[in-house]
Parts: sequence; C-alpha cells; structure tokens
Amino acid sequence: MRRKLAAGNWKMNVTAGALSELVELAKQVNPGDAETLICPPSPLLYLACEKLRGTAIAIGAQDCHAEPSGAFTGDISAPMVADTGATYVILGHSERRDLHAEKDADVAAKTRAAWGAGLTAIICIGESGADREADKTLDIIATQLQGSVPDAATGENTVIAYEPIWAIGTGKTPTLDQIIEVHDFIRARLIERFGQQTADAIRLLYGGSVKPDNAAEIFTAENVDGALVGGASLKAADFAPIIKALTQA
Ligand code: PEP
Repeated sequence: MRRKLAAGNWKMNVTAGALSELVELAKQVNPGDAETLICPPSPLLYLACEKLRGTAIAIGAQDCHAEPSGAFTGDISAPMVADTGATYVILGHSERRDLHAEKDADVAAKTRAAWGAGLTAIICIGESGADREADKTLDIIATQLQGSVPDAATGENTVIAYEPIWAIGTGKTPTLDQIIEVHDFIRARLIERFGQQTADAIRLLYGGSVKPDNAAEIFTAENVDGALVGGASLKAADFAPIIKALTQA
C-alpha cells in the first residue's frame, strides 16, 4: 500500500514571510492525512524545518548538486539539504532541465547524491507540447525513466513525478485518460526493470496545473499516488483542499 503524497514546489516565489502559510497549513493537516511536503527555496529550508517541528508536514529542497562538497559557487549539496532537517529533494524538474541544461545523467547523479545523504528523491519526467503533438510522449517518458532513475531505486528513496511540461503553470491539464495512460505506462516500465515488489512501492505523482477544482478527478487514477503542485501550493487555502481530496481518494 503506497502512502499518498501531496508535494508543494514553491520555486523562487517566496521570502521568509511566506512561512506563515506553512504554519497555517500545519493547522489544517492531520497525521492521518496524505503525506504532505513543501519544497521552499533553499535559504528558507532550515527555518521551515524549525517552524514545522512536531507537525505532519515534511520539508524538501528543489535541487541539489551531485557532489557532496567542493568548489561549486552558489550550489547546495545533498548533505547540506539533509543538515537543515529536510528529507526530500526534487530533481530533474523541467525548469532545471530547460534553464540549466540538466540531462538525464545529471539527474541520475544528483539522485545518487541525494540517496547518499539519506534524502528521498522526487525525480521529474515529462514531455513537451511538441513531443505530445508528435505522439512521442511514451518514448520520451521511457528514455527519461531509464536515464534519470538509477538502478538502486526503491519505494523509500524514490518518488517519480510525471509533469507534462506544457501543463506546468499554464492552467492546461491532460485529460484523465492521458494521465492514466502515462502513469500506467510508468508503472509497467518500473515493474519490468525493478520487479513487481519494488515497482509497486514507488509512488507516482502527477504535476501540472493541479488545483482544488481538478484534484479529486486526477486522484481517481489508480497509479496516481499524489501530486506535485506549484502555484496552488503557495497558499494554505488552495493547498489544503488538494491534500483533503488526496486523503479521501
Ligand atoms: C511544478 O512546478 O512542478 C508545477 C506542477 O507547477 P503548477 O502546479 O503551477 O503547474
């Protein structure tokens, strides 16, 4: 039985004042609800962990370096992330792949670094709008899965987020059938590669314009184990109903 996960990605959208939203969210999330995670910008990781101590909300980073330390000005390593008290890290988000030229091999190296520091990696994969129009979605997903997810993946150390790039921050979402097709495909590929038991334990999140009004329908899909949410995770009033819908799914 996979525990549902609602993960919020705050991107580069907030400063410390936004932590009041975390405190508000913590009041609305109970230990029996879907697992809840917020990934704030890295300068806020430590403070967020401190504010949430003793609550049901976990904290994660939005990226980490593949090396544990070294001359990499401006980067943060996986041990640094873990040192703040964070337990997750998002890797291979399409904005990193696009704006920082991260390739599948980079994502795999970062994932191994995250595991080495005891973090759970949320590995993002997804096709562009042009890929979908050219009917290449499943090929892209297969290639990214193979290249970005290292061989030692388990249900404890890895979560996979399917995020069609054209749906991120656009208000557009795939149809439920399209989401089901991709998530079922990912599960089947994981079974082929890792065997039934390991594959069944790896959680698959859908991400891309998840909102309070479309979440419940998306969560009806058998292989959707939760969501990676950008815009609608910034305010407790928007994220709490998504967590509730996931808890009830
Ligand atoms: C994201 O950034 O991962 C994301 C899914 O954003 P949004 O929910 O705003 O589309």
